[in-house]
Amino acid sequence: MFDILIKNANLVTSEKIKLGSLAIKDGKIIDILFDNCEVNSKIIIDGTGKYLFPGLIDAHAHLNEPGFTTREDFYHGTRAAAVGGVTTVIDMPMQNEPALYSKDIFLSKEACVSSKAYIDYSFYGALVTYNLNNLEELNSCGTVAFKSFFAPVSPDYTPLNTGEIRTALSIIRKFDGLASFHCEDYNIITYEQNKAIKESRLGRRDFLNSRPVVAELIAVKNIIELSKEQDCRVHICHVSHPVVAEEIKKAKIDGVRITAETCPHYLIFDENDFLAKGAIFKCAPPLRTSKDKEKLIDYVCDGTIDMIVSDHSPCAPEEKSEDMGIFNAWGGISGIQTGLQTMYDYLVVKKGISPSLISKVMSTNPAKHFGIDKKKGSLKIGADADIVLLDPNKEWNITCDSLKYLNKQSAFVGLEGTGLPVLTILRGKIISENGCITKNTPYGQLIKRKL
Ligand SMILES: [Zn+2]
Repeated sequence: MFDILIKNANLVTSEKIKLGSLAIKDGKIIDILFDNCEVNSKIIIDGTGKYLFPGLIDAHAHLNEPGFTTREDFYHGTRAAAVGGVTTVIDMPMQNEPALYSKDIFLSKEACVSSKAYIDYSFYGALVTYNLNNLEELNSCGTVAFKSFFAPVSPDYTPLNTGEIRTALSIIRKFDGLASFHCEDYNIITYEQNKAIKESRLGRRDFLNSRPVVAELIAVKNIIELSKEQDCRVHICHVSHPVVAEEIKKAKIDGVRITAETCPHYLIFDENDFLAKGAIFKCAPPLRTSKDKEKLIDYVCDGTIDMIVSDHSPCAPEEKSEDMGIFNAWGGISGIQTGLQTMYDYLVVKKGISPSLISKVMSTNPAKHFGIDKKKGSLKIGADADIVLLDPNKEWNITCDSLKYLNKQSAFVGLEGTGLPVLTILRGKIISENGCITKNTPYGQLIKRKL
């Protein structure tokens, strides 16, 4: 007797789509049936006409707990994720009090969030100037990757210089870890920002000009060279521009152990949205031109960009205000809930691309590269029964009210499209149905990197 049988759905793996029925027992995928035989199951769900994906893995989100819970917290962020079809989130180590730089902080963060998570979660570790001696212990407790910046994020999130990055990669290589980078050259940005402020050029266009593509490109080239020399796996966060993607493509051909991600906002929006509507569209790197945006998708399709992540980066409403100027407004877009529906509409409905690409870049690849693919990111028998069912005919319109975030604001509000997640299952239990959380007690758990 199965616990749940989802009958006659289009099963979407990263390679193909096949009509079949998926059986779940004890939290695992236990069988996949391709003929219409009679089977016993406690719950039978009709999947006719729907796409069944492995639960999404959002490999880049800021849930801000502990410490910054006026912006977002695990309770709201993971409920939003569940409604959107995400079953595992990889949470970032900054906007965390303190930054997640040691084993003790890893353990206290886990104790803090474990009773609030509606989906499973993994932790990024910090990679800052003062924790190079902690990287190994962080890896031992299950940290999936380490995040570093070229520019200061907060007083305790210090940027590494290239010498320090080189040393960090030599350490991370020893345990075959993954070092991730926000790639924007600090020298260019601070120089341009200071100049703009001094000359009172404080408009939206001035902000865009202060973060040119070349800043992103220089930072990525540095990481490529350091990765090549140190033979350490590196990951480029939120690639915003095709020129940057082209550099990553060349590095991959050269054998550099590099992976990359982009976000729905870089594929759907462009600088005109930011120029017209302001801070709600502010992110870093910034939105690029509509021509750049159109080209970026080619690099997702050809495998250069390995994954699409939300970079869910919420804030309190007053932090998005432009009263103190666009340079001071919060940079970050909330999107953990809307990734699947917006990418289904953009990739499948509008571009005619196979839904398999969604499975690949939003589930299978993140699981593989972040080392959690033993249990996550596939429809294989024995894997965790993390499932999302999408109705391709359901039309949607994103409203503030439909968002489960603590702060119901997002650049995606107002967007319309077709194809909506209607059922999310986490380890064999239905956690969300038709936009509502169905499981009152959160039971998300920590997923450690396999060692
Ligand atoms: Zn981020």
